[in-house]
Amino acid sequence: MAGVAAIIVAAGRGTRAGHDLPKQFWPIGGETMLRRALSPFVNHAEVGCVQAVIRPEDQERFRSSTAGFDILPPAFGGVTRQASVRAGLEALQPSNPYIVLIHDAARPFASAALVSRAIAAAENTGAAIPALPVTDTIKMVDPAGFVGATLDRSALRTVQTPQAFVYQPLLVAHRRATAEARDDFTDDAALAEWAGMKVTIFPGELGNIKITNTDDFARAESITAASLGDIRIGTGIDVHAFGPGNQVTLGGVRMPHTQTLVGHSDADVGLHALTDAILGALADGDIGAHFPPSDPQWRGASSDRFLAFAADRVKARGGRIAHLDLTIVCESPKVGPHRDAMRDRIARLAGIEASRVAVKATTSEKLGFTGRGEGIAAYATATIRLPWS
Ligand code: MG
Repeated sequence: MAGVAAIIVAAGRGTRAGHDLPKQFWPIGGETMLRRALSPFVNHAEVGCVQAVIRPEDQERFRSSTAGFDILPPAFGGVTRQASVRAGLEALQPSNPYIVLIHDAARPFASAALVSRAIAAAENTGAAIPALPVTDTIKMVDPAGFVGATLDRSALRTVQTPQAFVYQPLLVAHRRATAEARDDFTDDAALAEWAGMKVTIFPGELGNIKITNTDDFARAESITAASLGDIRIGTGIDVHAFGPGNQVTLGGVRMPHTQTLVGHSDADVGLHALTDAILGALADGDIGAHFPPSDPQWRGASSDRFLAFAADRVKARGGRIAHLDLTIVCESPKVGPHRDAMRDRIARLAGIEASRVAVKATTSEKLGFTGRGEGIAAYATATIRLPWS
């Protein structure tokens, strides 16, 4: 028996203005709203299993939205929110949880602390919902548009999800509602009240907003952008000498040349400088610390993995790479013809769009070791965004 289960209701058909993709699959800061809504439950130590409820036609979208998540196979929803919750409750029967949390996929910013409060409240009272005091004055308006009354806002609350219940009585209440043809409850608290359960409140969260229209999506984008407010810039420099050979690898692209670059890996100065720039922005050592030249397993290794490794370290910190800028200094080979291929390759390895990758080249006017054609130097800058934490 799982102690706590969560149901995330994502069977709505609401689409964003001008598009036919259901809004739960729209990206916010590069992740679908559904993935963001699931995260605080999937990653919560007290939540034993997570049951999403979707439309059958969204199975492929669900799969890509939940890659890497430990989550139950989805249940399929009905025509109303109430029917979808019921489908989720029925699907949880084999797990038979003690507590069930019910959350809307349209709320992508619930925190782990809110989930913890929901669990504690349901353990205390059996049925509890997150609520916020009303700060605006509320008026009753008649059909003709005249203000009839001003309500006492001290008695009013706006409520959110996750709503939390002891599982068995809520399942029984849902079955009874279906049997009595009541399909008009807009939230689970209303159904629980109807079934005679005493519903209590616990503090909700101002940031736990519901995304319903295009303006909300714009607001959600700016919230996620602000949450990556720790902007870091790192630099990386690398040099490799020429030796006998007939090709070089630069910026992940192999090209014919009259010599080759000498080094313990494939000696790609471009990818090495970029890797160090990212590690520098993370303040996470350097390429030599993570891939020691003394370790024979990196002899002749493709430098692709070094850059991909650094990009993964950014992801693991919840961050994003905003920009990579690489300058290659040499008399030859000519970089220009390979510039776009390098940008594409670097972008793919770093998991970003090619528009965020710059590759530049210069000679050193025949001065110094690069000018004498003894080797190639590369300078890189990485701009990354991390959460403040
Ligand atoms: Mg190197």
